[in-house]
This record gives sequence, C-alpha cells and structure tokens, in this order.
Amino acid sequence: GSSPNVSEETGPTMVIGSSGFIGRFVTEASLDSGRPTYILVRSSSNSPSKASTIKFLQDKGATIIYGSITDKEFMEKVLKEHKIEIVISTVGGESILDQFNLIEAIKNVDTIKRFLPSEFGHDIDRADPVEPGLTMYDQKRKIRRQIEKSGIPYTYICCNSIAAWPYHDNTHPADVLPPLDRFQIYGDGTVKAYFVAGTDIGKFTVMSFNDDRTLNKTVHFQPPSNLLNINEMASLWEEKIGRTLPRVTITEEDLLQRAKEMRIPQSVVAALTHDIFINGCQINFSLDKPTDVEICSLYPNIPFRTIAECFDDFAKKIFDNAKAVSKPATASNNAIFVPTAKQEAL
Ligand code: NDP
Repeated sequence: GSSPNVSEETGPTMVIGSSGFIGRFVTEASLDSGRPTYILVRSSSNSPSKASTIKFLQDKGATIIYGSITDKEFMEKVLKEHKIEIVISTVGGESILDQFNLIEAIKNVDTIKRFLPSEFGHDIDRADPVEPGLTMYDQKRKIRRQIEKSGIPYTYICCNSIAAWPYHDNTHPADVLPPLDRFQIYGDGTVKAYFVAGTDIGKFTVMSFNDDRTLNKTVHFQPPSNLLNINEMASLWEEKIGRTLPRVTITEEDLLQRAKEMRIPQSVVAALTHDIFINGCQINFSLDKPTDVEICSLYPNIPFRTIAECFDDFAKKIFDNAKAVSKPATASNNAIFVPTAKQEAL
C-alpha cells in the first residue's frame, strides 16, 4: 500500500452474508484487492437473485463454503482449515445475535487478525433511535461488548447512509431509483447526513481492515463532499432529470407513527430515518473518543464517489429503461418509464 500503516499482507478473508445488500459490496471489494476471499453461504438460501449474486462472486474468484454461523464447531473448523485471517460479517438485522457463536469460534481459533461485526450504519453506542430501531441497536451493542470482552481484534465500520434516495420504508434504498413523482421531505429537510456509495463502503471497509490504525477502533465515514440535507438531495435529483417535482412533508409525528406500527423491517427503517433526519444522529456528536477514527484522515488522497455521480447512474438507468420499453413512432415515447423496483426490494 501507499501508506506505511497499510499492511502488504493479503491473508485469506471470509465474508459472511455475501448474498446480502452490504455483503456484496464488501465481497467485491475484497476480491478486487486481490485477497483470497471465502464466502459463507447458507444452503437454505435459495432466492434466484441471491443465487445470481453468489454465481457472480464465484465467477469473480470467491470460494464458496456452505454453512451457517449458528454452527460454532463448523465455523472453528473452516476458519482453521482455510487459515482465515480476516472475518467480515454482514448478516442482516434479524441475525445480529447469531454472531455470538461466531465470536466464540473466532476466540477459540485464535489466529484471526481482525473481525468486523455486522455494523455498517451509525455509531450504535452514541445513536439512540426509537423502537424498533433501538432493539436492533441493543443487539449490536451486546455483540460489541462480547467482542471487547473476548479480546479479539476488531474494527467497527460506521459508514452512515448509502448514497440513494432515503426512502423511510425501504431497507435497501440503493436498489430503488430516486422518485419521479414527488419528494417526501422529512421535517423541514435541513438536517444533514452522509451518503456514501455502496462501492465505496466496500472499498474503504477493505482498506480499513488492512490498516494498523484501525485496530480496535470505530471507523466513521464522514467525507465532507457527501454531506447533504434532503432538500439538497431533491434539488440535485431535479437537475439530473431536468424537471422539478412536488415536495410533500413527512413530519416527525408521521415517522414516529410508522415506527410504532412495528412492521419489521419497515418500522426499523422509519425509526432510523427519524433518528437521521429529525435528531441528526450522524452529525450531532464530535469524534472525541480515543477509539474514534475518521476515514478521510486515514486516506486523504483517495476521493469518495460524489452523490452527483451516484445520481448520474440512477438517471442513466431510467434513460436505459425508457429506451428499452419505447416503441418507435408512438406518442407515448417521451414518457419516462417508472420502474417498480421499490416493492421488490422490500
Ligand atoms: P441482508 O439481509 O441484505 O443480507 C444478510 C446476509 O446475511 C444474507 O446473505 C444472509 O444469507 C446472511 N446471513 C444471515 N444469517 C446468516 C447466518 N446465520 N449464517 C450465514 N449467513 C447468514 O443484510 P443487509 O445488507 O441489509 O444488512 C447488513 C448490515 O448492514 C446490517 O448490520 C444492517 O443493519 C446494515 N445496513 C446498513 C445500511 C446503510 O444504509 N448504511 C443499509 C442496509 C443495511 P441468506 O441469503 O441465507 O439469507
């Protein structure tokens, strides 16, 4: 690496949850970095889109291992057998506590140089969302405390929001295009958040676990170029599509009501949306703990993709979709095709 702190070692890495939303980005980045990359896949997992993700990663060079982290003895065996040095977990919100078994296995194997538990959001020791967001945070906190107690080397990745329109009812907003009908603006739309491209979440996560400076630290993703409020997000998207859209206010009460409905996972997303865009949980603290590290201070010369660039990709998708469905010489050709990916993503 170009930095003296980034180790040249490229030991075998295992990603758990590669077929998932965050896991795919991390796995691709690990493969791109040239590390031997093993992916743990549950044999029960049989959705066609997940199967195609696994196939894609396998073609890119990943080695598949079938199994679940709930099986501690099995995990110990595969970690030893493949001399795994780095373990990254990107299990979803419903599986956070499964990681207790994984921590046990890592502790017993004793050759793991770094463990990254499933975090990939806010600093859960600082943020304090309403229920049911709080329950998930409590589970992630329990996992942190167990890791620290076990003495295994760790890094917590707090990458903030994914660069996409922040729908309050969708766990995977980057799978969905920004709106073409109207914007839903949370509160007065002035509270800022960090929107980071999925590919950068993967890339900087892989750089982080290869770096001495992040050992037993919390890595915060706060690129200044990616700090926007939702009014600015809306204006930027209007620029990309070349027209303006109506803006509807979603109040604090609306978000709290959605959270109270206790629909999982939608209500978790509503609770976190409230925490981000009403409470300002990504910006209302300073990095004053000895365990805090900011990603741009580690890699000042490596730029993040901007939200404008990410929005260009979304606009291109819309344009390509419109081209694909348009038939020659009809009056409706100018209408923009509105994909219905939002339902599918949920
Ligand atoms: P997904 O639900 O998309 O994927 C979870 C993955 O974990 C799947 O591949 C699943 O496998 C796998 N998995 C779950 N349990 C086990 C197990 N016991 N053994 C092996 N594999 C298992 O997760 P997300 O990507 O949505 O979430 C990952 C993390 O990222 C979470 O901590 C979440 O809170 C956070 N997140 C952050 C976002 C942001 O904007 N910053 C957005 C979304 C999530 P299978 O295919 O078998 O189900």
